[in-house]
Order: sequence, then C-alpha cells, then structure tokens
Amino acid sequence: MTVTVSPTPTIKAQPVIPVMKPWLDETEAAAAADAVLSGWVAQGPRVKAFEAEFALSVGASHGIAVSSCTTALHLGLYAHGIGRGDDVLVPSLSFIATTNAARYVGANPVFADVDPITANVTVETLEAALTPATRAVIVVHQGGVPADVDAIAAFCRDRDVVMIEDAACSAGSRYKGNPVGFRSPLASWSFHPRKLLTTGEGGMVSVEDGDLAARLRRLREHGMSVSAADRHAAVGPVREGYLEVGFNFRMTDIQAAVGLVQLGKLSAMVQRRRSIVAAYQARLADVGVIRTVVDPPWGQSNFQSFWIEISRDSPATRDEVLAALAADGISARHGIMAAHRQPAYAGHPTGSLPGTDLITDHTLILPVFHQMTEDEQSRVVESLRRAVGAGAE
Ligand SMILES: *Cc1c(COP(=O)(O)O)cnc(C)c1O
Repeated sequence: MTVTVSPTPTIKAQPVIPVMKPWLDETEAAAAADAVLSGWVAQGPRVKAFEAEFALSVGASHGIAVSSCTTALHLGLYAHGIGRGDDVLVPSLSFIATTNAARYVGANPVFADVDPITANVTVETLEAALTPATRAVIVVHQGGVPADVDAIAAFCRDRDVVMIEDAACSAGSRYKGNPVGFRSPLASWSFHPRKLLTTGEGGMVSVEDGDLAARLRRLREHGMSVSAADRHAAVGPVREGYLEVGFNFRMTDIQAAVGLVQLGKLSAMVQRRRSIVAAYQARLADVGVIRTVVDPPWGQSNFQSFWIEISRDSPATRDEVLAALAADGISARHGIMAAHRQPAYAGHPTGSLPGTDLITDHTLILPVFHQMTEDEQSRVVESLRRAVGAGAE
C-alpha cells in the first residue's frame, strides 16, 4: 500500500537530519596541523602512539595500524596462509568487504546465516555452513552488537579453524565485562567516518601473538625488515631487506594524529549513542510493528548502527517508511546489506539464509550521532510513528 505523507511546510524547511555525523572539532584539526607542520606525514611516531593507545583501549597486546578495515581483514587472512582451496565462513549480512577479503587471498567465501535478533553469526549458523575445506571464520560484531565470541572461538578451536573478528563497527562495545577485542587472537577495526572513531580512512589489526604482530607490521609495509620511520630516524645508512612480498597498507601520521584525539573521546561517544538509543527504544516501545535492536545478554553495543525492523503487519512497508522519513528531511538508511544478493556475487553458491534475508529486507537504520539534539530526535520519532500509523506518543 502507499502511505500519504503530508509534511507541513515548516518541517520541509527544517535542515536534513543525517544518519551519521563524525564528532570532529578544533582538537582534531589542530592535531592534524601539528602532524603536517612536523614535516613527518607518512607512517611514523604518531602511528606508533596510536597503535599503542588503541591496543590498550581494547585490551589487546599489539596494534598494527593499516589503511582500512578491508586491508586489515585481507592481511589477517593472508598472514594465516588462507588461500586457494580454502573456504572462509562469512556472514552474507555484512558490509561487502567482509566477503571480499576471502576473495582477495584466493579463498572461497561461504555464506553463514545470522540470528535475526542480534544480526550476528552463531555456533548454529556456522555449523550449518561448515564445509570440509573450511579453514577460517570471520565473525562480525554487526552494527556494534557483540557476537557470542567465546562460544564461536570454542567452535573454531575444536575444528582447527582460524577465527578472525571483524570488529569494524564495534570499538567501544563490550562483551562479558570487557571491551570487544579483549585478548582476541586477531581482530580488525575500521576508522571510516561511518563508524564511531574516525581517521577519515584507516584501520587496525589487533593481535596477542608477538611474532604474528611483527609479521603483520612487515606485511603492511612491503615486507621490509626495517620500517621506513626507523630507517629515517637512524643517523647512519640502514640497509633494509625485503623478507617476503608485502603490501602498502600503511596509515599516515596525519590520520593517526586525528585518531589519537578521537580515541580520547571514545567512551563519551559510546555513552552518548547509548543514551540516544535508550530514548528511541522507550519512545517506540508501544509501537507493535517496530522491533528495535537491543543489547544481547552477554554485552553492550556501542550502537554504531541503530536499526529497527518494520514487521510484516505494518500498514507501511520498510521502503515506504524510508520514503516518509526522507519526505520529512530525515536521512535514514536501508538495513545492513547482504553480499549474496549483490551482482558481485551473482551465481556464487548460497544456501538458504532466512535470518539474513529478514534483516536486509525489513530493517532500516535511524539517525544517531553525537551532536543529535532532542528536537532532532523528536522529529525522527514523530515522523516514524506517523509513517506506521502509530499515532502521537
Ligand atoms: C565498515 C566495515 C568494513 C570496512 O571498513 P573500511 O575501514 O571502510 O575498509 C568491514 N566490515 C564491516 C562489518 C564494516 O562495517
């Protein structure tokens, strides 16, 4: 059915509410300027400091900064020797980089379904997707909601399968009382502005094993035995060796300077997002046709993405609700994508993925950003309630 939306002229005239906005100010600008004026703009001392502080904040022994979470995932699989002939279990319900990473190393991505409540893979969905050639699993903490990583780690250990965490969305989320990524064998992080903490573009690999950390550091920098920064800092000539074929996946010191400031704001970011989400949850609780994402029993989300499901009983479909929000100047988004439905994976063998299809077809993501005002949130709530015929609060 079609929904008649009649926005009043005053609502029309109001500025558009974005779905996300990074929380950046003069402090990040000054830090970036300092890096530029220092004369050292490539990977250097600021990257080193950012790696150490980020690792500390998530409870990891080592942090290796890279150019994105996509390259972090690629390196993680590569460093474990995953490649041709290997299957990698991934949720189709994720940003497409999760699946692409398997392809980059020549491996075959195998789609696992997700639980429709958490939008994450579970031991059951992984078990159903498992093949004799499975050598790795990429566990995504989707939208910031922590997956049940202890259970999945045990599942992987029993089968001699490598577990890689795609923690792109989940800096600041918590699992069983610790930060997501705490003592993780390998977790990949994103600092794209769509996530909480941003460096423009950027990523990190966090690991426990010191030898693996040293190799990852080398691999992200052409396989060089001495980093360019160390070589530059040395007084005498240092001859580097190229120990294996590596990549250029480096982060710049300008990005790391911004990242260091952002890291100091992370807990405030999470707190603010969680309070905005709590208000949404309370103000939509009486709307039967809307289900909101919630914390799982084992942790707390940073609510990087606050999604809601529009049930089949709703008088307006998900797409009609999105159109109504857009007409009111609210920039909401379709829910999380599903790689198996994209042209890039047309013809790729896929089993039935009911949880994935449900989330991708029936959810949408509402605006949540640090600077969001009460008025802005009220506009979203009112527009949404009107769109699904729920009446005023
Ligand atoms: C954003 C995202 C990525 C990609 O991160 P980039 O830093 O942009 O490469 C990977 N996986 C998930 C789950 C993401 O949300």
